[in-house]
Amino acid sequence: MARETTLILFKPDAVSKNLTGTVLARFQEPGFVIRGIKMLRFDKALLDEHYSELTEFPFYPLLEEFMLSGPVIALALEGEDVIKTIRAMIGPTDSTKAPKGTIRGDFGECNRINMCHASDGPESAAVEIKRFFSEDELFDY
Ligand code: UDP
Ligand code: MG
Repeated sequence: MARETTLILFKPDAVSKNLTGTVLARFQEPGFVIRGIKMLRFDKALLDEHYSELTEFPFYPLLEEFMLSGPVIALALEGEDVIKTIRAMIGPTDSTKAPKGTIRGDFGECNRINMCHASDGPESAAVEIKRFFSEDELFDY
């Protein structure tokens, strides 16, 4: 297994429900470590870039409204096999179908309001980490 870094976003629902600490504790429990963390607000341009594969879908306007509704927290998290492991911990996109014990199954509302984004593979992780963090905002310790 490779040591890798993934990009996680706590979406506006996770932030406004004050659940970011609860979720971060779950992510740290297996030993994954924080390399970078910041709070920010998306603007339309950054969101269109982040979800460039989705902008033509009929659900995109509602997704955009949700993602611009409040601040998010971006997290660069490192560990063995962290990309796949975090995707499994978050659960499937639709929170109503996500098993209990997953982040979305426990705290998500629907297939839009679903707590977290997480990179889905090494290539997207590399691009997404660069999208939110500069070199000097990422730490090894
Ligand atoms: N989404 C939505 N409606 C859909 C599918 C997706 O609003 O029918 C939103 C949802 O917030 C999801 C995001 O778009 O997390 C990105 O979609 P993707 O298919 O990449 O799901 P993910 O990788 O987040 O599980
Ligand atoms: Mg995705």
